[in-house]
Amino acid sequence: MSCSKKNFFRIFVIVMSERRFIKVILPLRLEWQPVYESAEAEIGDRVRVLFAGREYTAVVSEVNVVPETDVSKIRRVLGEDHEAATQKFAPSTKEEIEFWRIVSDYYLCSIGEVYKAAYPSMKSTGEEMDARKRERLETSLLKYREKLEKARKDTTKSSYEAKVAELEKELRVEDKGPLSAKVPVLSASQQAAFDKILSIWSTQPSRPVLLNGRTGSGKTEMYLKLASETIARGKSVLYLVPEIALSRQLEDRVREYFPSVKVFHSGISATKKRDIPTEIRKSDTYIVLGTRSSLFLPHHNLGLIIVDEEHDSSYKQDSPAPRYNGRDTAVMLAKIQNANIILGSATPSLESLFSVSAGRFTEVKLEERFFCGEEADVMIIDTIAERRKRGMKGDFSLKLIDEIRKTLARGEQVAILRARRSYAPAVQCEDCGTIPKCPRCNVPLSLHKSASERLVCHYCGYSSPYDGVCSSCGGKLIPLGIGTQKIEEEVSELFPDSTVARLDGDTLEKEGKDIIEGFAKGTIDILVGTQIMTKGFDFESLSLVAVIEADSLLAIQDFRADERAIQLLEQFRGRSGRRGEKGLIVIQTREPEHPVFKELTGEAKPDMLSERRLFSYPPFTRELRLILKDTSERRLDYMSKELVSSLESIGLGIPIIGPYSPRMEKISDVHIRNIRMMLPRDRQLSKRKKDIEKAVLSFEKDRLYQSHIAIDVDPL
Ligand code: ADP
Ligand code: ZN
Repeated sequence: MSCSKKNFFRIFVIVMSERRFIKVILPLRLEWQPVYESAEAEIGDRVRVLFAGREYTAVVSEVNVVPETDVSKIRRVLGEDHEAATQKFAPSTKEEIEFWRIVSDYYLCSIGEVYKAAYPSMKSTGEEMDARKRERLETSLLKYREKLEKARKDTTKSSYEAKVAELEKELRVEDKGPLSAKVPVLSASQQAAFDKILSIWSTQPSRPVLLNGRTGSGKTEMYLKLASETIARGKSVLYLVPEIALSRQLEDRVREYFPSVKVFHSGISATKKRDIPTEIRKSDTYIVLGTRSSLFLPHHNLGLIIVDEEHDSSYKQDSPAPRYNGRDTAVMLAKIQNANIILGSATPSLESLFSVSAGRFTEVKLEERFFCGEEADVMIIDTIAERRKRGMKGDFSLKLIDEIRKTLARGEQVAILRARRSYAPAVQCEDCGTIPKCPRCNVPLSLHKSASERLVCHYCGYSSPYDGVCSSCGGKLIPLGIGTQKIEEEVSELFPDSTVARLDGDTLEKEGKDIIEGFAKGTIDILVGTQIMTKGFDFESLSLVAVIEADSLLAIQDFRADERAIQLLEQFRGRSGRRGEKGLIVIQTREPEHPVFKELTGEAKPDMLSERRLFSYPPFTRELRLILKDTSERRLDYMSKELVSSLESIGLGIPIIGPYSPRMEKISDVHIRNIRMMLPRDRQLSKRKKDIEKAVLSFEKDRLYQSHIAIDVDPL
């Protein structure tokens, strides 16, 4: 009674004082939403506020709030008196805020962390390109276009051309043009699958569809047709790809059909990153091609989400929070937006196959390849046996060399995969056996050759010049193992008349675009590279793909290792023989009997889902991992054990595994420990998750151990 009296009194005071209070979301890891005073801000408005001595752009999440605290201490939002501060920023919609809430609930992070991911760059000065600046650019573009038309001399012409191109780039004129230019014509089996998908959605709107279509079956055309259909209905489309590398070749293909497609990923300019959200807000209908971060654009009127290569682990964000999986988050977004969603792959994740068997997704198959009926042949080569028979030349078997020669003679192309970038993954002293390691990460340093030779750490970037001399005994260091650079060198020696290029993490950024284009055009004969090459590309004349030391794909201590290896090899196999000639995949390994290779050749079909069920692994359970980091190893060990005890004390009723050192137990002098739990997927799942989150947060607070612990839901 007295409580409600007090409340009544408080409301009374507030009404009398005519002060209006709001709650805001700050771009921080904060479990609560602070209260400010504002006369006019509405839900979704973005306002400037002072918090702990710093200025932030916050989002209003609630208005007409009755404060729990002393109202005299509540501050006003900034700038409201002078000018309409909220006018500077386009407001967020209720759906956006709702989406952030769902993501933060699922991934056990604060809603502020999701907001921060959604609005990464927030300057107090206007976000949109200044209207006057745009006008000025447009005028001069017009001027230079006229000049270009009149120009006679080639030199002046090309200088005007450059100027026009530059201005167009700044104005992003390339994105203008009709939304939809043409519609793909489907083959009979594609049309059948398309019809089936539409009929599923007509009876069960926004039901997730898993398009299980073998490589080369033309899934892209299916997506494009579905996108056309969506845009024809006046709805927008979000087309997700796992990586930028993949988007490069795809971008041209999508632009052919949708000239004004907006491309959004971490590699675009800061201006574009700011402009695209604004453009989306202004368009009724739009199409975005992007990586996972484009899920957080201010979507509206969304009719379709496409998740291309849904099995790809690049969809997962490891750090910072939200540690979300783009595929699963896309399903959440589709639900909020009442949008249709299609997830496609030739090698679907076990998670998605499980969702099909549990009745949450509907599977549609596309079995027929568009150009070439059959899938590439598989040839497994036992390198130990070959070496014994003198059947090896360096790291290449004579059999593989022969296949490469035949392929090149037919005027076709070859791709060679080695899963380690560098010249050699490690070096070792001939005399004392020392392997130089990274002082900060305690892993072997790889040898890289470019202008000079260097030892490089792949985890923290540490590097030192290499002189081939052992620092502990003065003996001679020799390369241990082989990397892509060494393979490139060997290939160039074996095939001196062919053009060889390398596509890996070291060349991707600078030369990636040219290499991919060159290989597509046929100016490159042999492409050596890492996993990057295996994803989604469509090269007409590639008919032989080979894997050197496939063993490294198997070695990882992880229950997902086999699933990943099979996906990678199937994807790579699917790159070959996409037109006419039947393709071939050659695999060199020391373990030819491994079940992964048996599956590839079709000799055995391991039931990976049953295996997962047997061991209670995901997708039958949900994994939750706690990652602890500290520069002091002693404190880390102590705190990890304490955290386990305090988790045990809350009675979760499930085993707590750890703390243990992960494979990389130290990166950049920061030590790492993991704790993990496999949560049954029962009715208690979300309660257990919340309980764990609460326990972690209060542990952090009690032990003053904030920012040392991260929670990773569904880690990969
Ligand atoms: P997937 O992604 O399923 O591996 P793609 O979508 O890359 O296969 O298609 C394989 C090849 O077949 C591509 O070169 C693509 O252009 C071509 N293709 C597929 N469907 C059609 C179609 N309906 N019309 C014309 N070309 C098609
Ligand atoms: Zn290092």
